[in-house]
Amino acid sequence: MPKKILLVSFCVACAVLAATLAIVFILSSRESGKIAEREYPLTENSPSAASATENEPVPTASSTVAPSENTEINILFAGDLMLDRGVEYYVNKLAAGDFKFPFEKAAEYLNSFDAVITNLEGPVSDKGVLSGSIYSFRMSPSVLAVFPYANIKAVNVANNHAWDYGRDAFEDTLARLKENNIGYFGGGKSENEAYSPYIFEKNGIKIAILGFTEFLESVRANGNEAGIAFSSPEKMEAAIKAAKQKTNIVIAQFHFGEEYRETPVERQVNIARAAIDAGADIVIGHHPHVVETSEEYKGKMIFYSLGNFVFDQGFSKETMSPGLLEVGITANGIEKAVLRQTSLTKYFELLPPEK
Ligand SMILES: [Zn+2]
Repeated sequence: MPKKILLVSFCVACAVLAATLAIVFILSSRESGKIAEREYPLTENSPSAASATENEPVPTASSTVAPSENTEINILFAGDLMLDRGVEYYVNKLAAGDFKFPFEKAAEYLNSFDAVITNLEGPVSDKGVLSGSIYSFRMSPSVLAVFPYANIKAVNVANNHAWDYGRDAFEDTLARLKENNIGYFGGGKSENEAYSPYIFEKNGIKIAILGFTEFLESVRANGNEAGIAFSSPEKMEAAIKAAKQKTNIVIAQFHFGEEYRETPVERQVNIARAAIDAGADIVIGHHPHVVETSEEYKGKMIFYSLGNFVFDQGFSKETMSPGLLEVGITANGIEKAVLRQTSLTKYFELLPPEK
């Protein structure tokens, strides 16, 4: 075959291939409904998929579900919030004890959402006695006054630090949150309350947010006894199903996994997928203190760990790089979920993510 014809045939073949790929892409985008576009990767230190369970879909480095211009509710989900220890030290040293300090640089960004929801990693109280290890936290009651400034409207209390200062501090924390009009989920004054969702409502759309922890089984809420929502499969599934009866959208949060891992362990994958199977519309995790990979399962997103929100772990870039999950919701469901990574300054001030 003469060279010219060979070249032309090659180009035609390329064009046909390109057109086919484009059609396949368009069709597959349509097929998955809301999922029309993805953004990769989110993290600089793109986690490897090597540790993903065999024969399981490989979690993606980061994901975006359907960018929609007109979402009616926009909520920002953040990871672990801990304003004791090093954070408090700089608040006292550099801001005369004003807890607005860690949020000041990102305040405008945080307030551009309908709500910010985070994991409260420890009690907020002046009661109780140290009952954990040297890694026990208790935040000053004065932190709650700045939650509205940071647009924090509700917090998860299902985590391994909830009981750092015992029952008195835990119960006092719930009472103080209530007094300050901050919602909470993942724990309660009774078993019923612990497994009931925090409901966020706007424009007639109701969102139910549940929290569970795989830690502290010994202090799970029981009958009329206060405690945390432990992530036993039966309780978790029942709570999600009950929430689904009441609301359009159910968001399930889990405090799970292993610290400083950038990929989920098999246990996390099983729990998160079971939550989707039970009816959760999205799963959001925390505890590892670093951002973990995410994946799409049955058309729903699972973000295994958002890392820290504000925390004093200055020893690594990963622990100083909060993952902020922007979730856009309409009456039809979750239209958008974009994970952005930002950073904390050396004084543990949150910086807004770059646009
Ligand atoms: Zn934790």
